[in-house]
Amino acid sequence: MDDIVRLKALSEQMSFEPAEDHSQDGTPYLDQTESCPEAVFVHPAVLPNGKKIKLLKTLLTSACERDCYYCAFRAGRDFRRATFQPEEFARLFVMLSQKGIAEGVFLSSGMAGGGIHSEDQLLKTAEIMRHKLGFKGYIHLKIMPGAERSQVERAMQLADRVSINLEAPNNDRLSKLAPHKQFTAELLQPLKWIDEIRKTQPPDKGWNGRWPSSVTQFVAGGSGESDLELLTTTDYLYHHLGLRRAYYSPFSPVPDTPLENQPPTPVIREHRLYQASFLLRDYGFDVEELPFEADGRLPLQTDPKLAWAQRNLSENPIEVNLAERQALMRVPGIGAKGAESILRIRRQVKIRDIAALRKLGVLSERAAPFLLFDGHRAAFQSILF
Ligand code: SF4
Repeated sequence: MDDIVRLKALSEQMSFEPAEDHSQDGTPYLDQTESCPEAVFVHPAVLPNGKKIKLLKTLLTSACERDCYYCAFRAGRDFRRATFQPEEFARLFVMLSQKGIAEGVFLSSGMAGGGIHSEDQLLKTAEIMRHKLGFKGYIHLKIMPGAERSQVERAMQLADRVSINLEAPNNDRLSKLAPHKQFTAELLQPLKWIDEIRKTQPPDKGWNGRWPSSVTQFVAGGSGESDLELLTTTDYLYHHLGLRRAYYSPFSPVPDTPLENQPPTPVIREHRLYQASFLLRDYGFDVEELPFEADGRLPLQTDPKLAWAQRNLSENPIEVNLAERQALMRVPGIGAKGAESILRIRRQVKIRDIAALRKLGVLSERAAPFLLFDGHRAAFQSILF
């Protein structure tokens, strides 16, 4: 196989890794296969600093000795496997970056020869790119299940972001998806090491003088898990292990795997999980406050912030002129920027109506049912209540 055919074979399944994706559905950024055959492998991406780039997402090898039930690359599945050696891939990628086709890379791998060997191959590739070929752009490196602590630390010295996929929220659920992965020893432990290294070693040991951010991914809906289980684990990762972001890849059945007849997870569930996870990470919500149904699922028809407000603020609206920042951010339509604007303006004048709120860039119609304006509900609310 020539290099480009191999790259296509290795990267075409990577839309199941939503990390950094700009488009919700992971659609490739460019589709200029006639004029530029390589461009189809590149995804739109938003970096941790907000910059948009063209990101090549690929595996180093699609050979795998594990048999995860949901995965297209599982051992024994009949398809043509492909592999790059570290030097080959590093040179190909740097050539693509010099041509302006890709600006960064998300590099993962199947498991061939054990987690330690597979991680070594990823590290070698990144080392060649950084130190032999002088690539200074964005690298997201996958940490393989079973990697050693010293390998995790080395990855953190080479990459802008590192990740290891938990796949499921706990050991029981993982056993339904990937019976040979060990939740605590192989998957959670590296995330703990990352946090420990960031907290105990100076950032100038990291790439570009700072430690990389860390993320993880769950296969949402693959193991019959509830949203409560996923978000409880997510909350722990955000608040105890310094995780930058949890990604939820909606389960999608792959032919010729044990889960091929399981229905796909609706995209709306993925959307609600992201909304709820941001409430935990950015808005000061606790897991117990989220509006779960009795079976631990989030309502699909309403976003979780609105559902929480309908239960808690409809009868007890917040005074927009007195509430603290954190309380304001719990109101639908008010985010961090909106709360800041409210705090700033009310030092000068009282906010008396929706029009004043609208001028601050707040989604005022959405917020108003849950607010008091100088002791009064907004005028239009007589219609709503
Ligand atoms: S270890 Fe990774 S590549 Fe291999 S079967 Fe499991 S999920 Fe797929």
